[in-house]
Amino acid sequence: MMHNSDVAVIGAGPAGANAALAAARHGFSVTLIDEQPRVGGQVWRAKSAAILEAPATPETVAGNRLRQEVDESSVTHLSEARVWQIERCEGGANLYLLRQGRSDVLHARALIIATGAREFVQPVPGWTTPGVLGLAGATALFKQELVLPGKRTVVSGTGPLVFYVASEIRRLGGEVAAVITPNSRGDWLRCLPAMASRPDLLLRGGRWIADLVLSGVPIYWRHAVTRVEGETQVTGVEFRKLTADWSPTGAVRRIEGDSLCLGNGLTPTTEAAQLAGLGLEHSPRLGGWIPLHGVDGTTDIASIFLCGDGTGIRGSTAAEVHGRLAGLSAAEHLGADTKGERDRLRAVYERAARFGTAMTGLSLPRAGLARLTTDETIVCRCESLSRADIVAEISSGAGSTNAVKSGLRAGMGPCGGKFCQTAVSRMIAEAEGGGEADVPPPTPRPPLRPVPVEALAGDFNYSDLPIPKPAPL
Ligand SMILES: Cc1cc2nc3c(=O)[nH]c(=O)nc-3n(C[C@H](O)[C@H](O)[C@H](O)COP(=O)(O)OP(=O)(O)OC[C@H]3O[C@@H](n4cnc5c(N)ncnc54)[C@H](O)[C@@H]3O)c2cc1C
Repeated sequence: MMHNSDVAVIGAGPAGANAALAAARHGFSVTLIDEQPRVGGQVWRAKSAAILEAPATPETVAGNRLRQEVDESSVTHLSEARVWQIERCEGGANLYLLRQGRSDVLHARALIIATGAREFVQPVPGWTTPGVLGLAGATALFKQELVLPGKRTVVSGTGPLVFYVASEIRRLGGEVAAVITPNSRGDWLRCLPAMASRPDLLLRGGRWIADLVLSGVPIYWRHAVTRVEGETQVTGVEFRKLTADWSPTGAVRRIEGDSLCLGNGLTPTTEAAQLAGLGLEHSPRLGGWIPLHGVDGTTDIASIFLCGDGTGIRGSTAAEVHGRLAGLSAAEHLGADTKGERDRLRAVYERAARFGTAMTGLSLPRAGLARLTTDETIVCRCESLSRADIVAEISSGAGSTNAVKSGLRAGMGPCGGKFCQTAVSRMIAEAEGGGEADVPPPTPRPPLRPVPVEALAGDFNYSDLPIPKPAPL
């Protein structure tokens, strides 16, 4: 069935929800689509019904405010709806949605894509052992279910998330065995000028670190996990010091724990923008490949707009403002006058983006990081492909992500490349002697999300199926 809306927004995180509200305030009909049950995205993920009474965190407060604004607005929120295909058409775009087991089509005169980011984990031996979680993924457990990763957790990774996750585990009553981060104290000191633009966030981060230090949690700066121990469950990790380019060096040390939160920063999700026909450029300081976009979320295609972490990792505060700018740009495209509003918001956005980009810089991969992935390490977990399998494919002539994908199915499993794509691209770049900018991600194909065949087939009666007459003998 075909529905219509002036504006459709994919993604109800800080960027998408604010884009929807901004366009709706100018009188346009807006449909906000997200596969999550509630508005809030990753950072302001809503609590499940079972933990509603749990004390509020700054994330819950910000998320509740946004959820209330959307509830009180004219925005139509389609929750638990997955966009699996985007087709540009005369006068806008058609979105194919999967909701309540049915596939529907929504036609929109303007489309705003706000699909956020995904986490990158540099594969290390044993990272697929039960008890290993993504660092960012672990935040979803706390926020939505108040569940801890384990009883004694090693928390390892780059950027501010490593301290947030460790401090949340402690606040919720778990034990943090150690914090292990490839960043040095010097990396953080270099970010201070940019961080000074948001003293509130700087203070919050300082409190996380102070809490860990005062409670005696060891923090290993400029170190990385090099192996996860345990057959059916994490029993501990091996870790080593890193050189300035993040190559492992020196003696192997070990620490016991029953769980590990591991992450190496975020990368923008670009597949929806690519399906809509937008090109990409490589921007390491923004997290990798980003869709081409102009000022205020505009793109080369007049009816398509982008905002939030999907355009480069700048964090939630920047995503909120970028969302508003993109919503206003979409309203302008449909005939509203939003120039004054956008001019006022732009400086706010620049300040927020400055802070977020400095944090993203802490996860900028250095050459040695890839050396943590040994030959026998599983890289594509859906297809159980090791680094050696992928290197052999590249050596046999597969010099692009599309070639590795079609040769080995890396990226064709249920995760759609979420877990392996960045590592595979970096392996190709290394083998071919180029940079990551020479290895674009594979061509995206529908479905963007898994769709059951029965949802595509719809309701039908077998007796209505036309049966061709037998061919004459
Ligand atoms: C797992 C994870 C956890 C994070 N946790 C934190 C944190 O605790 N603190 C912090 O400061 N930053 C965190 N971040 C970074 C944070 O996501 C961003 O800075 C901020 O949320 C960006 O807002 P956004 O609106 O651009 O994207 P998001 O908040 O990621 O919102 C994007 C939304 O798009 C939806 N979506 C994507 N594709 C589709 C589709 N095809 N169909 C329907 N819906 C779709 C997603 O369900 C999601 O709700 C996290 C990132 C990730 C990946």
